[in-house]
Amino acid sequence: MSFKTLGLSEAILKAVSKKGYNEPSPIQLKAIPPILQGKDVLASAQTGTGKTAGFTLPLLHILSETEKTKFRPIRALILTPTRELAAQVYANVKEYSEFLNLRSAVIFGGVNQKPQAATIRQGIDVLVATPGRLIDLENQGLLSLKRVEILVLDEADRMLDMGFLRDIERIMKMMPAKRQNLMFSATFSKDIRKLANGILHHPVYVEA
Ligand code: AMP
Repeated sequence: MSFKTLGLSEAILKAVSKKGYNEPSPIQLKAIPPILQGKDVLASAQTGTGKTAGFTLPLLHILSETEKTKFRPIRALILTPTRELAAQVYANVKEYSEFLNLRSAVIFGGVNQKPQAATIRQGIDVLVATPGRLIDLENQGLLSLKRVEILVLDEADRMLDMGFLRDIERIMKMMPAKRQNLMFSATFSKDIRKLANGILHHPVYVEA
């Protein structure tokens, strides 16, 4: 099975081959088709399985296939527990979208918010964020999540371990109810299942 047969666009295949990937990893093989079909996905995947491309490639494909307005609202939100992970996911988003007409940004705490707010003001399609800084900027009216179509919760178990449940619940209320939800987690505790039940609609379950 190749990336091509998964139905990803030429521009994305070009970025994938530039990264030197020859074939999809197991989690990519299982997660990409249902995501491209617009389904909610609950994925069990550890770091190192290629999970980031597993959600980023189809997400970029979906966004690039649909209309871009001149004013670019945030259409995809990728939430991560730590700034290190946010930076890493953002680096991947940049690489995979090199040949697409999509803009992205990353925001996290511990650094000046001004440059982050300025980038968002210019209009971006994909935002990678940690929960705290995202809530800060939204509360100040510096970003809106009202047009989000796709939500990714990356390393959801770590988000709960770090005490982000309340923040996640607040962020959910900032987005339209009708959207595609993708949740990735290495472990599946009772709390994670509860969170998944509250967020995902008839999810397809995949594991690496
Ligand atoms: P992740 O699990 O998303 O942190 O990815 C782990 C590593 O695997 C990263 O360095 C990716 O660049 C790499 N990777 C992702 N997908 C593939 C693939 N299909 N073939 C080879 N390497 C990959």
